[in-house]
Amino acid sequence: MTEKERIELSEILFPNIKRTKEEYEKIYPERNLKAGAMVTRYGPSPTGSVHLGNLFSAFCDMVYARQSGGSFFLRIEDTDQKRAVAGGVENITSVLKGFDIIPTEGYSFKGEYGPYKQSERTEIYQTYVKDLIVKGFAYPCFMTEEEIASIREEQEINKTKIGIYGMYATDRDLSLEEVKEHLANKEEYVIRLKSPGDPNKQIEVVDCIKGKMKFPENDMDIVLLKKDGTPTYHFAHVIDDHLMHTTHVIRGDEWVSSLPVHIQLFEILGFNIPKYAHIAPITIKDSETGAIRKLSKRKDPWAGAKFYEEAGIPIKALHLYLATIANTNFEEWYLNNQDKTIDDFTFSFDKQAIGGTSFDEAKLTNLCKTYFSRKSGEEVYEETLAYTEKFDPDYNKLLKENKEDMIKFLNIEKDVPRPRKDIAKYSDVKEEFSYAIDEMFKQENYAKYEGEKTYDVELIKDYIEVIDLSTTNEEWFNKTKEFAVENGYAATPKEYKKSPDNYKGHVGDICEALRVMITGRTKSPDLFSIMKILGKTRINERIELYRKYSNQ
Ligand code: GLU
Repeated sequence: MTEKERIELSEILFPNIKRTKEEYEKIYPERNLKAGAMVTRYGPSPTGSVHLGNLFSAFCDMVYARQSGGSFFLRIEDTDQKRAVAGGVENITSVLKGFDIIPTEGYSFKGEYGPYKQSERTEIYQTYVKDLIVKGFAYPCFMTEEEIASIREEQEINKTKIGIYGMYATDRDLSLEEVKEHLANKEEYVIRLKSPGDPNKQIEVVDCIKGKMKFPENDMDIVLLKKDGTPTYHFAHVIDDHLMHTTHVIRGDEWVSSLPVHIQLFEILGFNIPKYAHIAPITIKDSETGAIRKLSKRKDPWAGAKFYEEAGIPIKALHLYLATIANTNFEEWYLNNQDKTIDDFTFSFDKQAIGGTSFDEAKLTNLCKTYFSRKSGEEVYEETLAYTEKFDPDYNKLLKENKEDMIKFLNIEKDVPRPRKDIAKYSDVKEEFSYAIDEMFKQENYAKYEGEKTYDVELIKDYIEVIDLSTTNEEWFNKTKEFAVENGYAATPKEYKKSPDNYKGHVGDICEALRVMITGRTKSPDLFSIMKILGKTRINERIELYRKYSNQ
């Protein structure tokens, strides 16, 4: 076709497209950002619930944009309406907000580069396709599904590449008259790329994470616009990333194989090519087969975004975990920098894992514990209150009624070089501090930690008599030792070990007995602090409870 014919064809196919691409270039001007600022985007398809892998990719978009003073936007990629799920879009925005991964602009957020939903941008895509038709880089293809299927069969038999390209792309050279005939017959058509690629030539791409990669040039005449005039993902994202001025496309590495197509589209459209950063999937060792596989929502509870909220894993602690997946040097940095938060860390693509990163529950738990250990009692209280409001209303009520005490308990051993690391999630507070609230302190608490031993109630009663709760920790411990010796116990475990026959036990046994009686547990934060908060009356009530429990 001559250029004149192609112009005529473009008008026949897109009579309603009146704007030119130049107009769109003006509507979406360059962003006014400082040098080095990254513009990233999260482009989910609303096809169902959000996966940890999606959150991870959005997290990367957020941190890279934020630290460089750029922009991170949310774009809903709903080009495949067949796969769209009712409520899918709302779910994405609410999960992002719930996970504190907040785009600076985009769908349901403000922004100058919208609409940020691809189904609302059809006219824009058609404008660019119309222009490609004029330039000879796109054409209408009238092949039927049956024709395509039979080509595929032939290609399978001949073991050649599957798809519509070269000799198989029979409609790429139709004359204007032939196209008109097809249209007059009311045949359905798609618009295909007229690929200028030569698969015998290579292209080189430098991925920010994977480094230099080489591919044969694309020669597939991929579909740009479907029969209904809406774009494919390949085409839509190229137009959008250009007009929205994305600088870094951070996405799952399942897209690496599409890179030659995408690069070619950017080139023929005359756009600058953004930088690509393909991130590895989050993998897991299958508990049954032992094989490394992708995290699966069906098999692994932690693959779904909802799991974290329900389990009571703090979002900020999950961010720490995502940061350890993002950059291999993050964890060490965080553990060695007590006073720093994630915002003080500089993420870099060089430190991003190239292969799949294995999901590590133990690491997540450890980071959560570190997170809690760095929070004040007040903060842990407030956050637990918010969690229980939704997930444990009964406990929430008790927490509110016992606020003052609860905060005191949560503050034990906080102001020390190595703060306690006993809580990994909000739901742990109830169990770990089961002794903090009188209404929750029942005889059953003892049964839970039941061991072989029965502790001597009279001995502990006598002990409480002589203890002064207003002294210092040191004085208290000296007094405890004194009491131990007076009652036939060794003052130290070491002494006891030297000649066990001379003693009933050692000072630690007295503390253990008291601890069990007043907390129902064999392990607890600093005992004297707990005693001080409870006071003698409540301590004695609990000793009496233990007396009943142990039939003494
Ligand atoms: N819509 C694509 C997906 O859901 C996004 C890929 C991209 O970020 O370019 O996988």
